[in-house]
Amino acid sequence: MSKQALIPPPGQQVRLADYDPSYTGEYASKKDVRKLIKRNRRRLRELQEVLYAEHKHALLIVLQAMDAGGKDGSIRHVMRGVNPQGVQVTSFKVPTPEELAHDFLWRVHRRVPGRGSIGIFNRSHYEDVLVVRVENLVPPEMWQRRYEHINAFERLLTESGVTVLKFYLHISKDEQKRRFEERLTKPEKFWKFSRGDLAVRAKWDEYMAAYEDALTRCNTDYAPWHIVPANHKWYRNLVLSNTIVAALERLDMRYPPPEPGIEQITIPD
Ligand code: ADP
Repeated sequence: MSKQALIPPPGQQVRLADYDPSYTGEYASKKDVRKLIKRNRRRLRELQEVLYAEHKHALLIVLQAMDAGGKDGSIRHVMRGVNPQGVQVTSFKVPTPEELAHDFLWRVHRRVPGRGSIGIFNRSHYEDVLVVRVENLVPPEMWQRRYEHINAFERLLTESGVTVLKFYLHISKDEQKRRFEERLTKPEKFWKFSRGDLAVRAKWDEYMAAYEDALTRCNTDYAPWHIVPANHKWYRNLVLSNTIVAALERLDMRYPPPEPGIEQITIPD
């Protein structure tokens, strides 16, 4: 299998058909990555600790996918072992009337993590050029302008100390079918299924076209997209943890220096 890019070449039109959702790189099975995932988990815990202590940078993880694409599983995976005090997960739903009374980034901006924290977005401002576009929720002139607004917004964030990691979890239509079927046969998964998901599935190609435009037009050098092969959950988790650990390593963080004279302090009885 030839190597598949994780970040699409900037400036080039993304064609999702060129990305194999079942790609697993050099690995054949879950067993091959267990140790790597464990090592990443340990490293992430250490890095989060310095991120929190140094209080200089923030990390924003954006997760986008079709239904059953694995957003929830990815969040569980990333959260395992990190200190909950420093992480905030936000799930973006159909906007409330109050949210709709504002610009589309209003509800998003206030959920961006502050210094020292990690924020995870389960869906995001990208819904405003995905579902909103496919379902014609606003006139085309309006969503068409949003790619530029998003790029400007993400530039503001990165220039303010927020590392923005955007992941599109790429599953095939067949894999979605398999996962939906599982939701219909396992009682503990019934709650995850809704008929509305089928209406969205029926528009699969339109969603892919909308994703391709978002992945192309908002694939900037400061906040690039990662197209994660997600048919195999173990490979998806490896890619996520590798990318998150590498991004935090690049920040070259340090624990703050001690107060002057700390070595002379004695704790009174
Ligand atoms: P999830 O599928 O993420 O687990 P839900 O089943 O509650 O959670 O789905 C959230 C719904 O909110 C999705 O159908 C999504 O398309 C919709 N949504 C999110 N953001 C927007 C938006 N800006 N405009 C319209 N719909 C949105």
